[in-house]
Amino acid sequence: MDTPWAYPDFDAHEVLQFVTDAKSGLRAIIAMHSTHLGPAAGGTRLWHYADDADALTDALRLSRGMSYKNAMAGLPLGGGKAVMLADAKLTKTPEMLAAFGRAVDRLGGNYVTAEDVGMSVADMIAIRRQTKFVAGLPAEGDEVGGDPGPHTSLGVFLGVKAAVRRALGKDSLAGLHLALQGAGSVAGGVARLAAAEGAKLSIADVDQARVEALAAATGAAIVAPADILSLDADVVSPCALGAILSEESIAALSAPIVAGGANNQLATPEDGQRLAARGILYAPDYVINAGGIINVSTEYLGGGDAGLVRERIEAIPARLETIWTESAATDRDPAAVADAMAQKLIGRG
Ligand code: NAD
Repeated sequence: MDTPWAYPDFDAHEVLQFVTDAKSGLRAIIAMHSTHLGPAAGGTRLWHYADDADALTDALRLSRGMSYKNAMAGLPLGGGKAVMLADAKLTKTPEMLAAFGRAVDRLGGNYVTAEDVGMSVADMIAIRRQTKFVAGLPAEGDEVGGDPGPHTSLGVFLGVKAAVRRALGKDSLAGLHLALQGAGSVAGGVARLAAAEGAKLSIADVDQARVEALAAATGAAIVAPADILSLDADVVSPCALGAILSEESIAALSAPIVAGGANNQLATPEDGQRLAARGILYAPDYVINAGGIINVSTEYLGGGDAGLVRERIEAIPARLETIWTESAATDRDPAAVADAMAQKLIGRG
């Protein structure tokens, strides 16, 4: 196997920590891409990976994405991410969470964790017993905190509306068809907001119970996971896992807009160009999905309330507009434009 330095996604990561706790069975990777703007912040993902190389690639890609996301959201945070390598049953024990918390603590605040796929607020409470370098904890009263998911959903919803305004010239989602990949935390919030505005929804998830519950709550049609991206819709909103926009899936897209909350949607940078070449408006994922980290950072760093969080999330559409405008003016695709902006902000431009 290649050394981590040889991985295509290594991209000058500052720190990579491989965590093994024999007693609990925990295996994890903590990746810190950049601390240029502040402590490396990004959630922890619990996932069953095909092999260790897949896990490392995921950690590296997610961690770099957090550097870009935090920089583009104007947060005083660097970028990092952790992955816990789970078995096929996604086993997660209190002992594993405790061992993970101790590993985060050893980094002395240079890495700050929170929820990602497979991790809950309850898990953050368990990690908090071992370290104070964690957010996404329950909020009391007017405090900022809790599950970042609804904040991510709000940002994605506002970003979808901005894309619809730009590509279709419409101010509302009423009557438009939104195809959502995923029926989890982020997709659920987007679906509820879009349904409330009168959008027609189609959703797909590999978890049948989840997709049925969300369909019942929003009136959405259920679609097979294999068909959701190519649906004849106005907007395709990927809100599940990454690398789903590839040469093959882009060729099969029918919708004029791709705007969703999943991290690392493009399988390769060329896929950003492929979307642009097909005239499909793409909302760079780490820009549109920053609502969760905006809430997490306000919780962790203090100095703000729910009003400030909302204000910062409401700035996401303008950020997307800036990217799309520069993309149109320079003939570079929106993902490339966003990457260049983010790299400059983290001192690597
Ligand atoms: P989640 O675990 O609540 O939901 C993800 C859903 O995707 C699950 O229901 C899962 O069954 C489904 N899924 C997996 N593979 C699928 C497939 N092939 N087709 C259809 N559905 C599939 O996770 P979430 O918090 O909603 O996060 C979704 C995405 O958004 C992830 O990429 C995550 O990294 C990203 N994201 C989340 C947040 C947040 O605040 N939660 C913030 C930023 C980005």
